[in-house]
Amino acid sequence: MQNGKPRVGIIGLTGCAGDQLQILNCEDEIIKLADKLDIVDWAMVKSENDRASRLDIGFVEGVVATQKDLDALKELRARSRVLVAIGTCAVWGGLPAMINQLPREVLAREVYKKGTAHLDTVEARPPSQFVPFEIALVGCPIERDEFLKTVHALLLGTRAELPRVPVCWECKTRENVCRVIHRGEVCCGAMTRAGCGARCPSHDVPCAGCRGPVEEPNYDANITMFQGRGISWMDIARRMQCFSAPVWMKLGLEQEVRRESR
Ligand code: SF4
Ligand code: SF4
Repeated sequence: MQNGKPRVGIIGLTGCAGDQLQILNCEDEIIKLADKLDIVDWAMVKSENDRASRLDIGFVEGVVATQKDLDALKELRARSRVLVAIGTCAVWGGLPAMINQLPREVLAREVYKKGTAHLDTVEARPPSQFVPFEIALVGCPIERDEFLKTVHALLLGTRAELPRVPVCWECKTRENVCRVIHRGEVCCGAMTRAGCGARCPSHDVPCAGCRGPVEEPNYDANITMFQGRGISWMDIARRMQCFSAPVWMKLGLEQEVRRESR
């Protein structure tokens, strides 16, 4: 603390920086919050940053895809009293971890036709696999409300209550017609953590699972539900893999994909 204000640092690892942009999108609210925080390290918005001193709150977005990422993450963990993972990449691996099963050499060859000597990337993994976090804010990108609620709660010395129900719960409260039941579409709402207000189905688009798995997803019940409507488990597996592949692999998705590929 300095002048009674918590010292804050925000860093981005490999990723699109969308979560940091979302913090900036808080506009009026972030200006009000800036009075209550001492933001000492945020390379996206400041040219002079304190990269070494202790932080009351550290935020990290993106995945670990290089040794530099890993070093930066460990440094941030060591200097942060409270570490907050922001975004689906930091919590679940996100889009960068979607095709980890393909060797890096194959990916590099396909993407960089002129050689990859400048790259030192390894398999993309979420920071949550390397260091512990006190708080995880999911979303691709994070929800502004959840970020603001989290910071306000930390300022009060407490923790924000974040949704633990699936997206279907929010979808039902909005009285949307279920896309799985009534249209036979691949919608991941039943296995995805709520908090977005069921944004996609409310705009006539199936949920792609961008917030990652809900706590204790009922795997078997979901397979039965989709199969009962003529939806291949492979279709739902492919969709769920997009944003949270590492955790679904751990939960057994890999075996399901292999089983259906035979
Ligand atoms: S449309 Fe999707 S999110 Fe809405 S209830 Fe059906 S499965 Fe759940
Ligand atoms: S409905 Fe699904 S894909 Fe859309 S924002 Fe919410 S969690 Fe993400």
